[in-house]
Amino acid sequence: MDYKQYVKIVEDWPKKGIKFKDITPLMDNGKAFKSAVDEIVEFASKKEIDIVVGPEARGFIIGCPVSYALEVGFAPVRKEGKLPREVIKVDYGLEYGTNVLTIHKDAIKPGQRVLITDDLLATGGTIEATIQLVEELGGVVAGCAFIIELSYLDGMKKLDGYDVLSLMSY
Ligand code: IMP
Repeated sequence: MDYKQYVKIVEDWPKKGIKFKDITPLMDNGKAFKSAVDEIVEFASKKEIDIVVGPEARGFIIGCPVSYALEVGFAPVRKEGKLPREVIKVDYGLEYGTNVLTIHKDAIKPGQRVLITDDLLATGGTIEATIQLVEELGGVVAGCAFIIELSYLDGMKKLDGYDVLSLMSY
């Protein structure tokens, strides 16, 4: 499917110079959203995934339907102060700003095979931090899946050695 017709590019948002890729039109369209989720499920289906992990907030939107289809659980990665129980955390740099991400300490059991999902790969900071959290808990990153990859930001270089799917590239 040509997913690009469902992406709106918003100039200078949230800061000047950023060309924000808005995927809400893709999510608004039932057929396009289902097709995108199905492609990720197909990518993950032979990887013996035990759990899906996604960073807030758009990683949840992609990860939850995928985990439902795979019949496995979903563990959220959230900004500091949002998860109620004991967490581990990591600092990371974003395309615009910096952030701290956390995951519940008991979200992943050692040896579990993990699929990480997010809407978009930009500099790779978010995914790198998410991988760090998963691996610190003893999880095995079996795959990473994105709707969009911004190839001009070289985030893929941070994912060397990992099995990565992106449905479209800018
Ligand atoms: P990275 O950490 O630089 O790879 O940025 C990726 C994260 O920032 C993802 O969680 C995205 O949701 C968000 N992000 C960065 N740029 C965009 C964009 O153009 N559209 C939607 N989300 C974006």
